[in-house]
Amino acid sequence: MTANGKVKRAKLAVWKFASCDGCQLSVLDCEDELLALADRVEIAKFVEASRREIKGPYDISLVEGSITTAHDAARIRQVRAASQCLITIGACATSGGIQALRNFKDVNQFMAIVYASPEYISALATSTAIADHVRVDFELRGCPINKHQLLEVIAAFLNGRKPHTPAHSVCVECKARATVCVMVARGVPCLGPITHAGCGAICPAYGRGCYGCFGPSESPNTASLSQAWIKVGASRPEVARVLSTFNANAEKFRKTAVEYEDHKG
Ligand code: SF4
Ligand code: SF4
Repeated sequence: MTANGKVKRAKLAVWKFASCDGCQLSVLDCEDELLALADRVEIAKFVEASRREIKGPYDISLVEGSITTAHDAARIRQVRAASQCLITIGACATSGGIQALRNFKDVNQFMAIVYASPEYISALATSTAIADHVRVDFELRGCPINKHQLLEVIAAFLNGRKPHTPAHSVCVECKARATVCVMVARGVPCLGPITHAGCGAICPAYGRGCYGCFGPSESPNTASLSQAWIKVGASRPEVARVLSTFNANAEKFRKTAVEYEDHKG
């Protein structure tokens, strides 16, 4: 409570690490809804939106992106120390992102191909999730995140309650909107049975299979679904490839991807 009897506003900071900025754009897309929360939240630091910055500590920090450099590994510890509550947003922050494909190869080979002068690049051999480096209070999945889920998570932390973000699979959302299953009806390979809910099952609603951008659901049976993919005509390399995208370093996708990559044919 402030001196004039008003509720003290929570200081919210948004931080960027290795990422495409898509999840920060989802935060910007909450403009109207955040205005409605203006008497509860103060945007204290959000470089993508404003140069204005209020010094920490912060009540809530939203962290986008993965750790790919020694500098970022040190910086995330400073962010943690300055934050009462730290929420990671998106596939990069929660599982290392598409840039975690380096974890399966030699990062120096990638740098030699991409950069004209790779000797100026200083990068870690791996891209890892924020939770691999510091304590995280909540992980919000998606590539990018769903803004309604983000608002639910912020509201939950403001009110000291658990966020309501179901951990079931995309299939449940598919059934809830009465979409005909593309895999059962048309033999289209779909990762929905092992993918975390949150998008509202957009892809099957448009007749295509889910490719797992929200990462693994709570208890995915990746081995069984991979066999189902083979039955509808996918090859083992195709299974390995679809599990090796935005959430390639998520353990529940990675293990099966490596197994199918190692046994081509
Ligand atoms: S289309 Fe995909 S997400 Fe929807 S019910 Fe079928 S397998 Fe599940
Ligand atoms: S790929 Fe899957 S999780 Fe991502 S938007 Fe499509 S249906 Fe949703």
